[in-house]
Amino acid sequence: MAKLIPKPRMGIGEQSYVPEIAKGLAVTIKRFAKNTFLPRDKGDIVTLNYPEEKLTYPERFRGVHRLTHRSDGSPRCVACLCCSTACPAQCIHIEAAEYEPDDPRYGYERYPKVFVIDELRCIFCGYCVEACPCDAIRMDTGVHMPPSTRREHFIYDKEDLMAIPGADGTFETANPRHEPGDSSHPGIDRERGH
Ligand code: SF4
Ligand code: SF4
Repeated sequence: MAKLIPKPRMGIGEQSYVPEIAKGLAVTIKRFAKNTFLPRDKGDIVTLNYPEEKLTYPERFRGVHRLTHRSDGSPRCVACLCCSTACPAQCIHIEAAEYEPDDPRYGYERYPKVFVIDELRCIFCGYCVEACPCDAIRMDTGVHMPPSTRREHFIYDKEDLMAIPGADGTFETANPRHEPGDSSHPGIDRERGH
């Protein structure tokens, strides 16, 4: 059975919003006066002299994307399209390609011939990172999008994404996995057929 929620009763003051606007303005004026006239070490200042002073972001801050590398420098991405499928903003475009027949990855997995993110359309939800089965795409760079007045500067291609390191300065993943060709790789052996 539905539960009835009583409608809150508001007085004339609340309905007119005037007292609430006055309260908001009082907070703004108080903060302005403190920040402007009191010395920095006394003023309870909540602003920063950016860019000289920067906030320390939490570890899980979602910065600009990057594509992680394998130890041979190739992209860890296998062009499975999970990230582009999960992306609610539809700002990831991938074109898959096959490795050469003499590559141990030939037949196991593909690689992204084209991998593009339109960062202006991105809403930084992190779904692409969550969806990736290979830890190939990350937002652990710790940096904001560099500003620009040109839209094309926000279209990041595969080379751009692979040239951005993580906040720790490395290009690899913190979660390595078994690769085709490793003796520990549990996948199908193409020669033996199992
Ligand atoms: S963070 Fe969200 S919106 Fe941005 S590319 Fe990833 S899935 Fe798409
Ligand atoms: S980044 Fe990850 S989820 Fe996206 S295509 Fe590559 S392997 Fe798949």
